[in-house]
This record gives sequence, C-alpha cells and structure tokens, in this order.
Amino acid sequence: MDGSPPSRTWAEVDLAAVRHNVSVLKRRAGVPIMAVVKADAYGHGAVPVARAALDSGADSLAVVTAEEGAELRGAGIGAPILVFTDLSPEELSAARQHRLAVTAHSVESAKRIAGVQGLAAHLKVNTGMNRWGVEPSEVGEARRILGDGLAGVYTHFSSADSDASETRRQMERFDAVLADQPLGGLTTVHAANSAALLWHPESRYDLVRPGIALYGLHPGGDGGDPAGEGLRPAMTLKSYVAGIRRLLPGEGVSYGLTYRAGVPTFAATVPVGYAEGYRRSLSGRGQALIRGARRPLLGRVTMDACVFGVDGGVGVGDEVVLVGEQGDEKVSAEELGRLAGTINYEITTGVNPRRVERSYTDVRGS
Ligand SMILES: *Cc1c(COP(=O)(O)O)cnc(C)c1O
Repeated sequence: MDGSPPSRTWAEVDLAAVRHNVSVLKRRAGVPIMAVVKADAYGHGAVPVARAALDSGADSLAVVTAEEGAELRGAGIGAPILVFTDLSPEELSAARQHRLAVTAHSVESAKRIAGVQGLAAHLKVNTGMNRWGVEPSEVGEARRILGDGLAGVYTHFSSADSDASETRRQMERFDAVLADQPLGGLTTVHAANSAALLWHPESRYDLVRPGIALYGLHPGGDGGDPAGEGLRPAMTLKSYVAGIRRLLPGEGVSYGLTYRAGVPTFAATVPVGYAEGYRRSLSGRGQALIRGARRPLLGRVTMDACVFGVDGGVGVGDEVVLVGEQGDEKVSAEELGRLAGTINYEITTGVNPRRVERSYTDVRGS
C-alpha cells in the first residue's frame, strides 16, 4: 500500500473458476448449457461471467429482465438469450429489439407476445412450483396463440435440491404435457436448474439451466460442499483492517454494545457493513479471516462497518477475507448463509456493486 487506504471492500471474481465450473457441468450434463446470469450473475458481474461461460462451453444465456438482456447485447454478446419472467408490452418491444427470446406464462402473456412481430418465445409450464407458468390445461391454447413463435417449452423444479419424489412428480406432470402436445423437433425442452442437473440426470432433456453451480456454489443453499461436486467458488470478498483499538474489560462494541469484552481485547474495525451486503443478521456470529486465522465478529454489523476480535499480531492495513480462503482457512458463502439465516445465493447476490468494486482474474479475449 502507498499509504492511502484501499477501496473499502472489494470482490475478486475468478473467471478461471467459472470456466472450470462450466466444463464440469457440461461434461456432467452431456447436453447444451444455458448459463443463468440473472441478477448480475448472482452478484459476480453479468458481462464478464457471460463471456467466460460462453468461451468455456455454454451455448446460451438466461436473464430475468429485458434490461439484463440488453446489458449483455450492449457489451457485444451475440449468443441466444432467454428472459425468464413475464414482460410488459414495452419490455417485449425492447426484447425484440435486442433479439431476446421471451417466456409465455399464461394465455394472456402468450397473446401479448403474439402481438409483437418476430419474437421467439418459450412456454413455461407450471408443474407444481406454483409461482410462474401456464397451467397444463392451458398449454394447448397458449401454443396455438404463439404459433411459429414457439421456440421452447420448459418447467422449473421447486425442490430439486431437497425432495427427489417431488421432483419426480413434477417431471411426470411435465412429461404428460409433452406427450399430450407433440412438439416435433422444432422446440427445445428444458427443466433442470443446478440441483436437477447434478442430482436428477433424467431431468436434463434438451438443455440445462444452471445458475448457482456456475459460480462454484452448492445448490443445497445453506449447507453442502461445492468442492464435493467438483466446483470452485468464483467470488472472494475482501476488505482490510482500517483501525485497531484495545478494549478494557467491560467496554462494549458497536450499536447497543451487545458485545462486551471480558478480558483486554484487540478490536479491528473493518469497512464492510450491510450496505455492502454483509448481512446484519451476522451480528455476533460471523467470522472473517485475518492473518490466516478465523476472527469473531464482535457486536452488531452496522451499515458501513463492523468490528472483529483479533490479537496483537494484527495490524492496520491487513487483508480481511469475508468470503473465501486465506492461508489454510476458508469462510464459504454456504457457511455465511447458514450463520446469517439465509442461503449462499443471497450472500453473493446481495453484494452491492455500488459499494463493492469487482475485479476479475483470468479475463481472456472478449
Ligand atoms: C434461477 C433459475 C435457474 C437457475 O437456478 P440455480 O438453482 O441457480 O441453478 C434456472 N431456471 C429458472 C427458471 C430460474 O429462475
């Protein structure tokens, strides 16, 4: 360091890990990969991740809004892109302009789509998730409305990470729809998210739609080891020790003084808070790595900072790893999710790009 402090907290995204994960998944799946890069690639940065995924074997991309698709097109990405959610007429015109395929979720949404010339649509069927998708009984009608614009039919699993028999039931409903509606060879059929791709091979159909696994995170959410599936986490979240003070017994830390030192304690202030996406529910429970050791979070996470208990060997400017590895230690997004009462998905997706600069390793070509 040149004396000036580093940017407060930053995320290092390892694109070699993304490439590795894509090839692992591609080998496992044996069918084309639609890389799900919605929500800014789960907080990893949509454009660099999409490029890395495409140049390591992904065939197409998926996003949730037309705007997310437009961002990828704006960066010069030409691969097929599917938008998952239901769009307004304005968003549908934007989708057409950017050559995004859209999703029909109901008879009404099929009509809206058919009203815009030249849009390709996938029909999403509700097989039990009960969130989005046309009911099986309305598939025939929605299909007629979409006519030649129909490019795919898909469904989404509610419990592919947790309940094999429910996943089987959903597939049976989906298969019944497909049997009832012969689609010919012109339509792509798909269903599998990361969990289904990994653990329910019979659900792979014509392509798979992994999201979380691309980032090297475990589809089981709050538990499970991604390394056990051959995946490498792509994001490391780092900060630094901005200040150190010595607490006397009885002195407390942060709002409400919910932590009080029992013995003289070194307290390191780290410029990461819930505005960065470091969740407040980690208060009193989170751990971070400093000088290769786990350090307990003392008291509450505030909007802009939190405090970790350290020892006399830690100095101002030392690197702090909030998510990732340092020395022989590791804090995973899965662990942090569990401690925060949430899942790994929300840990990385919650990293706020307006506060947390992202840097990329192993960027290649364009
Ligand atoms: C988010 C999403 C996925 C990817 O799910 P992961 O669990 O992250 O693999 C796949 N399909 C649809 C429709 C989604 O919304």
